[in-house]
Amino acid sequence: MSVNDASDVGDRMQHWAMTVDRFLVHAARWHGGRELVTRGADGAISRMTWQDVERRARQLSAALLAGGVGQGTRVATLSMNVSRHVEAWFGIMGMGAVCHTLNPRLFEEQLVYIVNHAGDRWLFADLQFAPIVARLRAQCPTLEQVVYLCDEAQRPGGEGIAFETLIAGQRTDVRWGQFDEHTAAALCYTSGTTGNPKGVLYSHRSQVLHTLIVSQYEVFALSARDTVMMIVPMFHANAWGLPFAAAAAGAKLVLPGPKLDPASLYELLEQEQVTFSGGVPTVWQLLLAHLKAQRLRLSSLKRVLIGGSACPEAVARSFRDDHGVEVLHGWGMTELSPIGTVSGRPNAAVAALDAEAQLAYTLKQGRVPFGVDMKISGESGERLPHDGAQQGLLKVAGPAVVARYFGEDRDVLDAEGYFDTGDIGTIDAQGYLHITDRSKDVIKSGGEWISSVEIENIAASHPKALMAAVIAVPHPKWRERPLLVVKLKPGQDATGDEFLAFLDGKIAKWWMPEQVVFVAEMPLGATGKLDKKRLRTQFPALPAS
Ligand code: ADP
Repeated sequence: MSVNDASDVGDRMQHWAMTVDRFLVHAARWHGGRELVTRGADGAISRMTWQDVERRARQLSAALLAGGVGQGTRVATLSMNVSRHVEAWFGIMGMGAVCHTLNPRLFEEQLVYIVNHAGDRWLFADLQFAPIVARLRAQCPTLEQVVYLCDEAQRPGGEGIAFETLIAGQRTDVRWGQFDEHTAAALCYTSGTTGNPKGVLYSHRSQVLHTLIVSQYEVFALSARDTVMMIVPMFHANAWGLPFAAAAAGAKLVLPGPKLDPASLYELLEQEQVTFSGGVPTVWQLLLAHLKAQRLRLSSLKRVLIGGSACPEAVARSFRDDHGVEVLHGWGMTELSPIGTVSGRPNAAVAALDAEAQLAYTLKQGRVPFGVDMKISGESGERLPHDGAQQGLLKVAGPAVVARYFGEDRDVLDAEGYFDTGDIGTIDAQGYLHITDRSKDVIKSGGEWISSVEIENIAASHPKALMAAVIAVPHPKWRERPLLVVKLKPGQDATGDEFLAFLDGKIAKWWMPEQVVFVAEMPLGATGKLDKKRLRTQFPALPAS
């Protein structure tokens, strides 16, 4: 190629592989004194800086290399959000091994399945999970080594290695990155609400691009002035990418450890003057109820990211009206690394509307940032219009979206290269996605879709209701009909007719649940979401009334 040939850049721009270690190197070099604050299981606060984390993560990489871990070796973690978990992430990924976050709330058979499927060789675990570790060791032959995230004195007798012992005296100059950006960095399994969990293997490149995607103004918009409290666990879809985004921004990171009750969270929010936090709706519902009951104010919090399931209207209103906190409502899934859409920061047309109308947009799942594309398709694959009315299968494409699950030999993309999310929704003229259901939860009555989510949201806003779920039950004429399942607030009593009267006029007549049943407990999955699969097993048909 001649030096004047402009058709190919060749070596005229730098080859700068997009590897995730760069986030930590950046944070340590340019925001080195910013803190990572951890609250341990005993409630004690400990402080590290990004510089400390880099040094310790490099020591960990050195120890892993010495222990025979190499590129592609799967190293699992079973830990809450604590600084040693962040160090483990970077130590594992920086040297080219694959960090596999395990959700300790999964049923044991699922954990065993996942560890065996992934072929995990090392496991980093919090002390509190020692009983789970013992059971995994007995059933997972690939597991060679267990590291407890503790110091020597705390290590359970004769078991595994202590994190502090492992890194003590190790080199701090281990080389990171400098491999191809398509090298695997992390592995995450879907929670398997349908069939076995499926693994999504992220590359360094996809993780870096995901971080850039979520760093945009209309997504997390983190800055070097932010203090980020990461409530969403690092094992829940990699904490939505917050650890990398916080390091990239040079934010201070607050890690609440295992204590996630509202009083503990509030104390930490205030004590560390948190400006940004992310968690599932349940966490916020409990926190807001605590604030109300105790008449407490939030003195520093500016933005909350709410996702994992739809943000209830009451939560969005209370943050906005009672506390002046901006709500960012995110939709995503493990297969998307995980952020897909976010609402909260309006586009120009929505910003021109009054506050009530804007809230309606916040309660939708939002718009795609640059780096994600989406479409809704009809059942034969045709693109449906963005009219906010026609529901279709939601399909997504982008550099941080799965193409093929780990351990499988076939892509899961349609002819245009889009991944079917299993969610059903509408897209409106402003480009806002609204999720109306999951395809496996959808109720098809007389050939038409009924949105279980919409009925649930309305039923859950009944003053006596704590939670509401709508599932399909077989019906001889309509094929399926909705059944409303309600868990009442403590001490409340209600009749099915009260709920039907409450729904009357708010939903189409033919959407009206066939029956209402009350339950003492709702089955919840490992990420705190309603487990409709179990509910369907519980109510295979209309209960005799
Ligand atoms: P799983 O699919 O196993 O539950 P994920 O944590 O990947 O695990 O969950 C992704 C799913 O969660 C999405 O497909 C969607 O159905 C639901 N979800 C996530 N965020 C939202 C939201 N903001 N509104 C409605 N549903 C959501």
